[in-house]
Amino acid sequence: MGDLTEKRERKGTRCIICNQEKEGIGIKEDGLIHALRMLNSYTVKYKNPNYPVVCRECFTKYRKLRKGYERKLVSYLIIGVLFAGFIIVGSGGRPLSFLFGFAIIAFMYLLSVLSYVPELEIEQNKVSGTKPKAKK
Ligand SMILES: [Zn+2]
Repeated sequence: MGDLTEKRERKGTRCIICNQEKEGIGIKEDGLIHALRMLNSYTVKYKNPNYPVVCRECFTKYRKLRKGYERKLVSYLIIGVLFAGFIIVGSGGRPLSFLFGFAIIAFMYLLSVLSYVPELEIEQNKVSGTKPKAKK
């Protein structure tokens, strides 16, 4: 893993799905990515590359993972909010229960981060109405 290649153009792009050094679409460097890099506990795949990408071969897989993550995030948050609501209502609205409820929501959010899949730098499709339709 030395710097044998002196070409500066090679940024060390690495696919976050197959973990191979490949060219691909760059991921969005959002705050969560930076936080994960700092923590770098379980997400080895986010800390190693200088420039994480999703390669062409893995794009379909990436889309699935990303969708799965989005779904998970929403359902976790709903569960968190429901739990928090039950606790607050159940305790008769005591101040401490609000703190506890907030902690639960935060915890559920953190759970979803475990399967975090970053966004890509480019818009995946420019079709309008990409937002998921609300069911029910
Ligand atoms: Zn790949």
